Amino acid sequence: MTKDEFLQFLRDPDVCKEIFEIVKKGGKPAVVAPQVQPQQKFSSIADKLKTVYPNANAPQIQPQPAPQIQPTPQPAQPPKNNAPKGSGSLADKLKFLRGHLDKVREEEQIAAAKAQEKSPAEKYTVISNRRCPICEKDTRVVKTKSRINVEKRDLDYCIHYKDFDPYLYTVLTCEHCGFAAEEKKFSGAWPNKLKETLREFLKQNDMKFPFVEERNAEDALSLFELAILFSEMTDQSKGRQAILNLNAAWVCRCEGFADRERDFMEQAAVDFEVALENERWPINGISDDMATYLCAAIYFLINEYDKSTTWLGRIMNNANLRATAPKLFEQARDMWQDIKRANKA
Ligand SMILES: [Zn+2]
Repeated sequence: MTKDEFLQFLRDPDVCKEIFEIVKKGGKPAVVAPQVQPQQKFSSIADKLKTVYPNANAPQIQPQPAPQIQPTPQPAQPPKNNAPKGSGSLADKLKFLRGHLDKVREEEQIAAAKAQEKSPAEKYTVISNRRCPICEKDTRVVKTKSRINVEKRDLDYCIHYKDFDPYLYTVLTCEHCGFAAEEKKFSGAWPNKLKETLREFLKQNDMKFPFVEERNAEDALSLFELAILFSEMTDQSKGRQAILNLNAAWVCRCEGFADRERDFMEQAAVDFEVALENERWPINGISDDMATYLCAAIYFLINEYDKSTTWLGRIMNNANLRATAPKLFEQARDMWQDIKRANKA
């Protein structure tokens, strides 16, 4: 058969109908073709078709209208299985398998990306070495990196960072003897007498905190308590203890430990009051004006407005402060207005 004859053959309505039937039945001929002799000759295409498909003109079966089924309440269905049914075509099965493979590959890529993603502690901390001032051995310590995204600042200078809390790492500790202190004190010089006091104490009391790269809030709070204890045993600086208590309160605030936060805040306020009366400032980089402001801010945040007002009065009455620390003066004035509003409410 030539190409033209074949195209003419395809245009024949009977042939079209027959092809439609074949496709409808999944590729199987609608009628069984008789055995045709290879050498058999036909007078025309119609003659050939009549011989090959003798019942090709069989009347078309009209589709029956679907019977009306009344909806009945259905029990809860189990989750649908998206897999093709056993009787689905090869194309359907391939489509399902391709879709499934794409999904598996996508899940693998997400898992691999997650595995490579660093935890906040890995991103924002670094391990370095320090010489312990008490046992004088080199110890690993975890330090925070400087670039961390700030989310907001509270009245008492507590900074909330986006996905990391650097206050967890404020206290450094020695993995050999268990001494703990904030950076400035850990790296500073210690009088021999105080060193001896602590060495003796640490020899008799095992206070070693195991080295961990990633601290949780409980680890951090224990270390704050240790640092405060060692301060009480040695320098007895209420200024240092006030700052440590305030930093511990910030850890509690970031973690949502409201009751413990209040305990640390109250202790910080009392320590600041004592230190402002008796100690020489600055302490750990904090001036006496700033400590006065912090004392007022702590009392404000724990709703003790009278005490807050007393400490704010000291700042507002300091004639030089407007010139020497205008920002601090403005912050104190704003807090004064907040207290007036709170008292009216
Ligand atoms: Zn040590």
